[in-house]
Amino acid sequence: MRSILSKHAFTGRHGRDGDSVSVSSGSSHSPTGTGSPARRALLRGRVNAPVVPRPPGALEGLAFGDACTSCGDCARACEEGIILRDRDGLPVVDLREGECTFCGACTEACETGALIPDQPWPWRAALRPAACLSLNGIACRACEDPCEPRAIRFELRTGGCAAPLFTEADCTGCGACISACPNEAIGLVRAAPTPDSLPASEPMETRPC
Ligand code: SF4
Ligand code: SF4
Ligand code: SF4
Repeated sequence: MRSILSKHAFTGRHGRDGDSVSVSSGSSHSPTGTGSPARRALLRGRVNAPVVPRPPGALEGLAFGDACTSCGDCARACEEGIILRDRDGLPVVDLREGECTFCGACTEACETGALIPDQPWPWRAALRPAACLSLNGIACRACEDPCEPRAIRFELRTGGCAAPLFTEADCTGCGACISACPNEAIGLVRAAPTPDSLPASEPMETRPC
């Protein structure tokens, strides 16, 4: 079970399982000034909140919140149905819903400049060892097969289950392993310039507008 996830999306997105919900009237806001999600977060003292994965090509930090109008065009353009809202109403890529194909449809759909074409995807997969079944005595290789670049390999260990090893250099950050894991044991870390020693991200909270 997902501890803090409320599984909802922008109205009208191409959901795979019919779970789209209505957007509340409170979602409308101006892209600048105190009404923007970034400014509301600032006023609530959340400027130091963890960075979360915005759709590919997103501007960094508060610049994204200032440019994004929460219109939902990116989410509706995403055939994978992986763009949801965070608690500030801004779009986030939730790779528990599926993998990103890096098709660019979300970026192309964004008319505000919040998403810029041809930017590198700055996220890579990383293991949360405490949640990994295989590292805790339960045989599991669910993440291995979905990884097309073969960035995950399993190393046999004497007297125990095989241990998954992630090679960041081979990882595209597509998230296929994240949605495949039955225990949310895989999160994301920022690729360089953020230090690679950061722990994998915890499951984020997503909600309707
Ligand atoms: S690049 Fe494509 S698959 Fe990835 S979030 Fe954007 S629209 Fe969805
Ligand atoms: S299309 Fe652009 S402005 Fe609209 S919600 Fe997505 S990122 Fe924000
Ligand atoms: S994010 Fe994609 S490329 Fe990276 S380890 Fe997971 S499945 Fe492999």
